Amino acid sequence: MAVGTRVEYETVIGIEVHAQLRTQSKMFCPCPTAPAEGVADEPNSRVCPICLGMPGTLPVINRRAVELVLLTGLALECRVETDAVRFERKNYFYPDLPKGYQISQYALPLTSNGRLAVVVPSEGAEVTIRITRAHLEEDTARLQHAGRGFSVVDFNRAGVPLMEIVTEPDLRSPAQARAYGETLRELLRAIGASNADMEAGSMRIEGNVSLRPAGSTGLGTKVEVKNLNSFRSLERALTYEVARHAEALDRGDTLAQETRGWDEERGRTIVQRSKEEANDYRYFPEPDLPPLRPSEAWVAQVRAGLPELPAGRRERYTAQLGLSAYDAGVLTANATLAAYFDAVVEAGIAPKGAANWMTGEFSRLLNQHAADGLHADGVALRPEGLAELIGEVEAGRISSTNAKSVLATVFESGESPRAVILREGLGQVSDSGAIGSAIDAVLAAFPGQVDEYRAGKSQLLGFLVGQVMKRMAGRADARLVNEELRRRLEAGEAGES
Ligand code: ADP
Ligand code: MG
Ligand code: ZN
Repeated sequence: MAVGTRVEYETVIGIEVHAQLRTQSKMFCPCPTAPAEGVADEPNSRVCPICLGMPGTLPVINRRAVELVLLTGLALECRVETDAVRFERKNYFYPDLPKGYQISQYALPLTSNGRLAVVVPSEGAEVTIRITRAHLEEDTARLQHAGRGFSVVDFNRAGVPLMEIVTEPDLRSPAQARAYGETLRELLRAIGASNADMEAGSMRIEGNVSLRPAGSTGLGTKVEVKNLNSFRSLERALTYEVARHAEALDRGDTLAQETRGWDEERGRTIVQRSKEEANDYRYFPEPDLPPLRPSEAWVAQVRAGLPELPAGRRERYTAQLGLSAYDAGVLTANATLAAYFDAVVEAGIAPKGAANWMTGEFSRLLNQHAADGLHADGVALRPEGLAELIGEVEAGRISSTNAKSVLATVFESGESPRAVILREGLGQVSDSGAIGSAIDAVLAAFPGQVDEYRAGKSQLLGFLVGQVMKRMAGRADARLVNEELRRRLEAGEAGES
């Protein structure tokens, strides 16, 4: 390489997600996964000899948990294992793991080889991420460091059904990683497999990242990043790592394969564990559980329970409704946004018009409230209301500029757009008398510009239209103003005042 040239790197990211499954009881015992309605969650109140790992107990497989992994695998277009799937023991010692091993799946996961299409709004692109596997395991207890050298442990979480979903190293930027996480969360919620709540810990995410010289195909040394409690942290932590790797590689340093934790406050990652200290889990088949062999009938029954998935919806939007792939991607990235759009179309608005409003102004308003966790289903304005507003624009009764300001109002108040248009006098004037007098006044006020226009400076038309619109407080039908103004200018009529 010539002196002075700088190597360009390609970012390579793979994601591991753990999601608690939405079951009533734990993975291998009858303990409830959540406290009863209205009851406080006392530590160690939902435990039994099985989830406490007492000797002599025997686990029993939770059928619903298996079903939810199958459901997820099918939604991710995975292959479902038809051979006998053995649960395996992953052995390690930690105070949050009373048995000294976690029951997981290793050699043969329940589902594997799937994919998830992800729209990346910030890159204006759609990428397909290969899913390595989605398998079933159990959660550990929750350890809390109480300070002054001691820790407390709550076993309520011990044995809660947990699903691990791993991707191939297919992601190429921190933004893609974030979009993947958000898309997967939507999918898990849409099929009811998990609450997938990062803050509540029912969805946990780890990013694996490495760099390689652009154009090469090998994999660089990866670093795994943990302690991410939001998608924003995931994106920030990976961005930090990409910069750190690039600097190290530019200096000619070799990177260590290690696990790092994200320090949200300081905005940096810190070494947690190097490869040398990595565990040897000594996996072996769980002798207390029979092999699992999902029958074809069972898998078919689970498949029949799948709702319309984002990918299928996207296909319907492009093939049947004629939307662009991009619009379809944006709308289906969020199940509540897609449902809202469906309802606007149902209310009689043409798909293209509905999509324009929903991917434009509506999404902009939603994003403003994103920090409050607002989704389309929580917006005060219901789909029929948005349809009413779009209908007014399409009928020429309000300009789209004014309609945007009405939308900002009714988005939060839920009022009828027609009522607001009336109250605030924002309706569009297509009365030719009123427009005619405004034109007269403008022609009289700007004789110089009128002469120049007639002498051939046709771009002055825009200026004159603007003046008429100003006089009519933006309420004139711009198309009519344009036509009428041009007609008068070309007919050589002078204004009268
Ligand atoms: P480990 O055994 O350390 O958990 P895996 O091979 O199981 O590693 O991979 C874990 C995750 O890391 C997967 O999502 C995988 O795609 C990703 N991954 C593996 N190698 C790399 C790499 N060199 N760069 C980025 N991601 C990687
Ligand atoms: Mg790993
Ligand atoms: Zn239990």
